[in-house]
Amino acid sequence: MKIILLGPPGAGKGTQAKRLAETLKVPHIASGDLFREHQEKNTELGRLAKSYMERGVLVPNEVTIRMILGRIESPDCSRGFVLDGFPRSIEQAQALEQALSKKKDKIDKVLFINVPEEELTRRLGGRLICRICQTPYHRESSPPKRSMLCDRCGGELYQRADDTPEAVKKRIQVYAAETAPLVEYYKREGILEEINGKGPIEQVGKALVGAVRD
Ligand code: AMP
Repeated sequence: MKIILLGPPGAGKGTQAKRLAETLKVPHIASGDLFREHQEKNTELGRLAKSYMERGVLVPNEVTIRMILGRIESPDCSRGFVLDGFPRSIEQAQALEQALSKKKDKIDKVLFINVPEEELTRRLGGRLICRICQTPYHRESSPPKRSMLCDRCGGELYQRADDTPEAVKKRIQVYAAETAPLVEYYKREGILEEINGKGPIEQVGKALVGAVRD
């Protein structure tokens, strides 16, 4: 199963992609997490991505596409994957399609998690992320059991530099301009399923698994 999770920032893609990938026993590939790992390790790619990410704009296609296509070439992706945060533009979607079609392969489903904009701003404002395993929490709606520590791995939680009000506003604008057109793009291909992302984590998770197994 090769799946894309599509949705605005704060829709719950990270949380749901992790769960879905565990259920399907395939890797979870999150472009944002890969960039943040590069930043933690202070690689050249990490330093380049940082300046874009802090402003809430997209990292240039050339490096992003190379990073993701390289990752899905790995043997652990041969049975499938859940892509989270990629593609984020028509150009990226076309690059992915071309790379897969060379191996007579294709994306099976695109799951679009839809959440109203006012809810996104609230969610991103209270978001905390584990520095080690990247699991997301929310200060009010899904706090960790121990203050500022990850329930899964005990790692330290932090607020992302791009979860500030200015960067959040910019990311939502970038989503509307660059990423939202992918909804129509994948609808035309007949592989898009829309999921209401407003409910509790469990309920949205069940809807996603249901859509995959349909
Ligand atoms: P995310 O963790 O998915 O919210 O991504 C955080 C930031 O990483 C984004 O605001 C972008 O700056 C960058 N990023 C992640 N995925 C992509 C992508 N597919 N294309 C370009 N930039 C990306």
